[in-house]
Amino acid sequence: MGFEELLAERTERMRASAIREILKVVSQPGMVSLAGGIPAPASFPLEIMEELVSRVFSKYGAQSLQYDRTEGFIPFVEALVPFLAQKQIHTSADKILVASGSQGVLDSVGRVLISPGDKVAVESPTYLGALQAFNPYEPNYVCLATDDDGLIPESLDDALKKNRVKFTYLVPTFQNPTGRSIPLHRRKQIAEIIRRHDALLLEDDPYSALRYRGEELPPIAMFAPDNVIFTTTLSKVLAPGLRLGICVAPEVIRKWLVIVKQGIDLHTNTFSQALACEYLSGGYLDRHLPKIINLYRPKQEAMLQALQTYFPDGFRWTNPEGGMFIWVAGRKGMDMEKLYWKAAECKVVYVPGKFFFANQGEGLETMRLNYTMSDEPTIHDAIRILAEVMKENLPE
Ligand code: PMP
Repeated sequence: MGFEELLAERTERMRASAIREILKVVSQPGMVSLAGGIPAPASFPLEIMEELVSRVFSKYGAQSLQYDRTEGFIPFVEALVPFLAQKQIHTSADKILVASGSQGVLDSVGRVLISPGDKVAVESPTYLGALQAFNPYEPNYVCLATDDDGLIPESLDDALKKNRVKFTYLVPTFQNPTGRSIPLHRRKQIAEIIRRHDALLLEDDPYSALRYRGEELPPIAMFAPDNVIFTTTLSKVLAPGLRLGICVAPEVIRKWLVIVKQGIDLHTNTFSQALACEYLSGGYLDRHLPKIINLYRPKQEAMLQALQTYFPDGFRWTNPEGGMFIWVAGRKGMDMEKLYWKAAECKVVYVPGKFFFANQGEGLETMRLNYTMSDEPTIHDAIRILAEVMKENLPE
């Protein structure tokens, strides 16, 4: 028996995700991947890890290896209070939930709120991993219009007027996949709209600390604290392998997030939490973050410069002040999934943008480029090669 017939209906639906297929070539020898969304290994503070590990054992001993409370390891959530305050999220340790990455938060929110057929509003395009987290709960997506400044507030107002939306999911700063940030005036408008409709926002903020230029932006949660589930992560500023996501939610939702987490994984890795606690409370993050920024800024500049130098007329791309991605839109009629294979023959890969749209058939001419994983000369050459592929395949 192959057991295929045992698969649940929702598992069958996951089969449709072609992206896993196309990204298989990424690991071929000699391939330059602009497709990933992962931090550079050089961004990890390896040099202090041994010291942190020994501190964990001397301070917490066996407790760091024991089962722990579902909400999060107490010394860690205490260390998260000032960490969140720096992001303008003012809360107390008893209100914070720790999850297995922000991805764990997205799954739990889906589990708590989405019944089959419920409406969830998302930016168009949005983070693919959020769609993958929500899809098993069978939502219908309401797609919100965006421009160079991210979500257009009127589109949200309109969607909330016309639909009974369970929640709206946004990545307001250095969005994955576009790198776009919603400016301050729009954040205030969005907060006002959310409050006026008595609606719920899931604000996902993994990237705001990775700012290379420009002014910091407050989270939307600051303007509508009672209407926002806020999530952030240590994946981009410490290490994704520790799997540490953080969530602050309105009390009613929070209570249920804890209950579902008990069923998912009881609690997040105690040892990771203890390690991160020492990292934060010892002031290491504040000292290390500028190094990560200095590592990524020239990579981003190299990519923007190479796009400017080599890409043909009719292409547009975002110019983000931080984060990990640049979003490129080719001429209408281009199919970046088709060109993916031609680029892969030339040993460069990216993610075709269509995968970030909840509605099929959108964004065919777009692609997401990542710059954190390669060095500057490699980025320069990869963009030159990609530009050649584009030039050879311009629409008539
Ligand atoms: N949200 C967004 C927008 C992301 O880009 C990512 C990582 N790619 C995540 C959530 C998940 O991050 P993690 O689970 O590692 O915290």
